[in-house]
Amino acid sequence: MSDTVKILSLRFPLLTETEALRIAARMAAAHRPFSVFTPNAEIANRAARSPAFSDLLNRADLLLPDGVGITLAARLRGARLSRMPGIDFAERLLAAAPPRGYRVFLLGARPGVAALAGRELERRFPRVRVCGVQDGYFPPGMRRAVAGAVTAASPDLLFVCLGSPLQEEWIAAFRPPCLAIGLGGALDVWAGCVRRAPDGWQRMGLEWLWRTAKDPARLRRLPALAAFAWRAVLPPVPEKPEKEKKSRAERDFSL
Ligand code: UDP
Repeated sequence: MSDTVKILSLRFPLLTETEALRIAARMAAAHRPFSVFTPNAEIANRAARSPAFSDLLNRADLLLPDGVGITLAARLRGARLSRMPGIDFAERLLAAAPPRGYRVFLLGARPGVAALAGRELERRFPRVRVCGVQDGYFPPGMRRAVAGAVTAASPDLLFVCLGSPLQEEWIAAFRPPCLAIGLGGALDVWAGCVRRAPDGWQRMGLEWLWRTAKDPARLRRLPALAAFAWRAVLPPVPEKPEKEKKSRAERDFSL
């Protein structure tokens, strides 16, 4: 059983990446509805203002810290949380696909992007087969039909890239029988439409700054980052990691 650390209203399990990958692989093999969300500071800040969104995120089977803000806040609370950007986590999961391979459904991004991303994933990960794609700009009335198409394709993994909070809400509402992971802009990166920050920037935890410089539309996200820093990082609140009851992932897939 692992401890958790509470950052604003979210409880992150204190898992290493290896442990999280092992749990995710078991979930992918189960063909039951499992969810992995990867909150960053912006998402944590939104959750802090919405009890309903907090509950939805805390009910995930795995909650992984996508951003440096979360890991920094954890460290100030005396907990060691390794940063696991969703896109890296997904790539490592695919790289470790079992011999029978993974069937992956890609949902989200502008029309055409998911298909390009799928080709790139199949090229990089020979044991991956993309079993379906759907762009992320379907009308709300089609959400149920999209969920039906996902279930009919019987994927092991579903990458939902609709942006937050839509992707988390879609996963929680439809719970397709597979491991669904909310991955933000990952399809744009795999398709080659968006470049990630150079490694050095990533290692320094400055990917957000690089992305903001490349895409000034992201400037509107900075107030949320500032609010997170103010509430979760700047005033260090010495707090021991909480011993919580077991998460559902740990109950079902004890390490
Ligand atoms: N998106 C979508 N449907 C929508 C709104 C957004 O498919 O209704 C996609 C958008 O095209 C992009 C992704 O969701 O591919 C969100 O990317 P963003 O960079 O905002 O996510 P982040 O990586 O910052 O979480």
